[in-house]
Amino acid sequence: MTDFNRDALGPPAGLVATMRLLLVEDNARLAALVSDGLEQQGFAIDRYESIDGAEHAQTIAQYDLLLVDLGLPDGDGLDLIRAMRRRGNSTPILVLTARGGLDDRVAGLDAGADDYLVKPFQIPELAARCRALLRRPGNALDSVLTAGNIVLVTAERTIRVNGQAIEATPREVALLELLLRRSGHVVAKPALENALYSMEAEVTPNALEAIVSRLRKRLAAAASNVQIKTVHGVGYALFAPPAADE
Ligand code: CA
Repeated sequence: MTDFNRDALGPPAGLVATMRLLLVEDNARLAALVSDGLEQQGFAIDRYESIDGAEHAQTIAQYDLLLVDLGLPDGDGLDLIRAMRRRGNSTPILVLTARGGLDDRVAGLDAGADDYLVKPFQIPELAARCRALLRRPGNALDSVLTAGNIVLVTAERTIRVNGQAIEATPREVALLELLLRRSGHVVAKPALENALYSMEAEVTPNALEAIVSRLRKRLAAAASNVQIKTVHGVGYALFAPPAADE
């Protein structure tokens, strides 16, 4: 769809780049497809293929969301979900399964899953379901950010200026989101770079400057009244004019 002007360096990243998902799926091919697809959407994914593996993973890392297959080599994914809920673990869980019957869906939700996706599914739908779960209260991703005449709807990954959507790459949207969340405050360059690029990505010294520069041009072209200021040697800050009188 909107593949224009994709940044040359690595996969697109949103604030979801900081969201860490645990995928529990024993079908290696499907697991690879899902993790590659979601990584391209900016999520960080750890893959395990059993209930034991998933339990172990959760002792060493904190996850924002679990994706759980039901037919696992060492048991039923529902048992994993029940055990987590009994322990008071409220991490959002999305069940991925070939079992699509009504009884199975009800059983999954009764066991404590938050949502249910029947195989085969498309990655964009899976990613959208993940984002929806991550926006739940408690996961506190504000869904609409505004400053001046800019509105950024995080679920849509679109920037609107005076109500008109403007073209922007995923990284430009992610940068604007980070600045909007700290509007009026300086956001340090390393913090922005960490949020915009994965650990593996090679980040050239002026990659961030280039993204800022393109975003400024797009905002200026759309007559935005918001400014992104450079704080030399520190980072960037977004400023909006004072709100108009009520
Ligand atoms: Ca399976």
